[in-house]
Amino acid sequence: MFVTLHSYTEHFMSDEKPLNFIEEIIENDLKSGKYKTLVTRFPPEPNGYLHIGHAKAICLNFGLTQKYGGYTNLRFDDTNPVTEKTEYVNSQQEDIKWLGFQWKNELHASDYFDELYGFALKLIDKGFAYVDESTSEELAQQKGTPTTVGTNSPFRDRSPAENRDLFERMRAGEFADGSMTLRAKIDMASPNMIMRDPIIYRIKREHHHRTGDKWCIYPMYDFAHGQSDSIENITHSICTLEYVPHRELYDWFIDKLEIFPSKQYEFARLNLSYTVMSKRKLLQLVNENLVDGWDDPRMPTISGFRRRGYTPESIREFCDRIGIAKRENLIELSLLEFCIREDLNKSANRVMAVLDPIKLTLTNYPEGETEILTGENNPEAEDKGGTREIPFSKTLWIEREDFMEEPAKKWFRLAPGAMVRLKHAYIVKCEDFVKDAEGHVTEVICSYLPESKSGNDASGVNVKGTIHWVSAEHAKTAEVRLYDRLFSVASPDAEEGDFKDYLNPASLEVLQTAYIEPALAGASPGSRFQFIRKGYFAVDKNSTPDKLIFNRTVTLKDSWKN
Ligand code: ATP
Ligand code: MG
Repeated sequence: MFVTLHSYTEHFMSDEKPLNFIEEIIENDLKSGKYKTLVTRFPPEPNGYLHIGHAKAICLNFGLTQKYGGYTNLRFDDTNPVTEKTEYVNSQQEDIKWLGFQWKNELHASDYFDELYGFALKLIDKGFAYVDESTSEELAQQKGTPTTVGTNSPFRDRSPAENRDLFERMRAGEFADGSMTLRAKIDMASPNMIMRDPIIYRIKREHHHRTGDKWCIYPMYDFAHGQSDSIENITHSICTLEYVPHRELYDWFIDKLEIFPSKQYEFARLNLSYTVMSKRKLLQLVNENLVDGWDDPRMPTISGFRRRGYTPESIREFCDRIGIAKRENLIELSLLEFCIREDLNKSANRVMAVLDPIKLTLTNYPEGETEILTGENNPEAEDKGGTREIPFSKTLWIEREDFMEEPAKKWFRLAPGAMVRLKHAYIVKCEDFVKDAEGHVTEVICSYLPESKSGNDASGVNVKGTIHWVSAEHAKTAEVRLYDRLFSVASPDAEEGDFKDYLNPASLEVLQTAYIEPALAGASPGSRFQFIRKGYFAVDKNSTPDKLIFNRTVTLKDSWKN
């Protein structure tokens, strides 16, 4: 099968945005007939949860086969038995699906252990690999430095027969951990240090999460990765820039083993400001209880963004906007925040929630009366998102910051004698206010204009300010969690000392008693709203009808711009 003709011609006939360098390579390969079917893979190591950098690689690999046809495999790169867990495998699958992608085959590098063992024997028989008994110190010594050549191991010239015998006995468990390695026989004087007889197998008695105790020898990353690509007929093996020096070895193995010629291409990894991205570091934050698990809404993990209220669309849009670079750079977190704002502006229903409440009492509104007002759910949506009912009564909650005892210049909200519109309701005039013993305002006393009802205003009064509110008698109580950046510096990795020293101490503020419209009482975990004037919020996974919890996804405006 060639690439699906439909997407192929459609692409050449449209004048969309310019191709990135990987698309250029693929188009050339497909045109020249070098490959019949494009096959890519996403190869996570199941040693943690996926983060936004992985999302970038996922969008790239799956996006290419969506565009040019062919397919993408999900391959768990599980050749290191120590760090891998089934929990991570499951979460990684969930996150890829949530992002909106579906792999063709689910594969595990550990499924290839037999085949990889066979490849090692093939190298041995061809004289391209040998069993080495050097200690790790001796191996390091032999390696040389970037400016001095290495030295040959005393075990380098063993015969293929002797190497085969030793390697088979390594596998059979005759030797202690670390006592021997299998090394590729390449060139100890290569300017590329990675080509100086790299280790391809080590002895390690570790239980593997899939193969159990079947193996006591495990292949090294470089030996397993390219060979797994070949076994799966991966045409374009896309990885990040750190692997540029490994490409020579990748090609060497494929050449010596005479297997499917997969090719490796490198792009710049995504670095995002105000966070760290390696699974190893994120694991430290989890283990040291500095965050509430891998899906803490402050974490740069896909599950963290999901719990925080990000949509898959916004993350895909972000990955698309940053493009594919060949040089390392730092992407601003504010770009990701921009993408989620744009999306939620169209999709999230508006509701009223008072986060820091004070009471507002209407002197001339009948005691005990409830009026049902109507609110448009989303003026930005095409169908306006329908409407909802909002109860109104004599006593309301309003935001503390919407009242000023001594108003500043150009203050259009509540102050003694000032008038303001209550959203979806009436114009009110501040007649008085009450303070407690410490001098904090506890209540604002207003009169309302009965003829000023929204949508039917016959008052003839014009006011500049509109504020949100909820009816005290009808409001539901909710816990609201306000999140900010996890780190207080843009590049915690680049700072001196431990990255954890740069955690933002104010990255989470919990408001125990916020009041929300009763329409939100049944909101299910994961649903997203705009709290009018306050930001976008999502219902937390632990929220219940008895204890509602909202996570702030993002503020309405970028408050970090200077
Ligand atoms: P980490 O240090 O976070 O564990 P990794 O590269 O070791 O990163 P893997 O699970 O081995 O993580 O990566 C799976 C795929 O995701 C690889 O192809 C890798 O290149 C890609 N990837 C990982 N981090 C990023 C990133 N920040 N930007 C783009 N791609 C990434
Ligand atoms: Mg890795």
